[in-house]
Amino acid sequence: MGPGTVRIGFIGIGTMGLPMALNLLRGGHRLSVYDLNADALRQAEEAGATRAADVAALVRGSDLVITMLPDAPDVEAIALGQDGIESVGRPGLLYVDMSTIDPMTTRRVGARLAERGIRMIDSPVARGVDNARAGTLALMVGGDVGVFAEVEPVLRLMADTITHCGELGNGVAMKLVNNFLSAGIVGTIAEAMTIGMKAGLPLELMVRVSGGTGTNNAWLHKLLPGKGFLGDFRPGFMSHLARKDQRLALKLAGEMGMTLTLGEAVLRMLDETVAQYPRDDFTSLIRVVGGGAGVDVRLDGGETKT
Ligand code: NAD
Repeated sequence: MGPGTVRIGFIGIGTMGLPMALNLLRGGHRLSVYDLNADALRQAEEAGATRAADVAALVRGSDLVITMLPDAPDVEAIALGQDGIESVGRPGLLYVDMSTIDPMTTRRVGARLAERGIRMIDSPVARGVDNARAGTLALMVGGDVGVFAEVEPVLRLMADTITHCGELGNGVAMKLVNNFLSAGIVGTIAEAMTIGMKAGLPLELMVRVSGGTGTNNAWLHKLLPGKGFLGDFRPGFMSHLARKDQRLALKLAGEMGMTLTLGEAVLRMLDETVAQYPRDDFTSLIRVVGGGAGVDVRLDGGETKT
């Protein structure tokens, strides 16, 4: 893939995928798109993308295929299913999966595609939809460094931070580790702040005091005070996706013979959060835990935003 215009086929133009794809268009590339959602396709078309009739047509007309799909079965269906990337893609085709899935699926898909000469890397994304719009996502890449070098100029249109993490599947492994940390930290904060508030400590005081100790961290001292602690639970990163990632991390651990006590407990907290607030931000965890104890974990008395 030399410099200049690349024919890019983008599958999965949802919350994250649409703004990511539009940055490729702005970067001067030719973009064709495919999704099950007609409304998303219409928006992409209005912005200058071409709507592909189906996955096969998209793959045939592309030098580089990118997927940004919800979960592992979706990626498997597009990559290995009937008239998917494996059956239609020509040798030399480049494929970047940017969805958050599990490394075992990534490696299985990559091995199958390699038999057909199709070169795959995984490049899941961190940060949220505002960063997707601004082209300032953080990418964690797994796979051959030569393939990575070929697609890097395209990835740079979507991200300001890109880290090569090793072999194929290591990008999604890193992503699952990161989200496991996030969910565990927010779950712990929810319980700790609820204990404190029930015991009579103001939230502002707990945040301030713990900020001067070893518990200083971005969630407690920056992200939640700017959003969830003000009652803003607009996604962001929806509860149901956070639960999916927690499940994927536990599945990965299970495949390696590990049982995770904390991870299982956080999954149960996320199950409850999805039951109550499926499409709100996953930091609704603090509403679930606080609400269960009759406490409003808030810095102000303002309106709740969802
Ligand atoms: P989303 O549900 O908004 O978008 C997914 C899109 O894929 C939808 O438009 C859907 O119609 C489409 N789709 C599903 N199956 C399809 C199929 N078979 N063929 C064609 N299109 C199909 O999800 P999202 O928030 O954009 O997230 C995508 C991925 O990125 C997920 O794996 C998520 O965990 C991850 N992620 C999300 C965020 C975030 O803040 N939202 C941040 C980082 C990573």
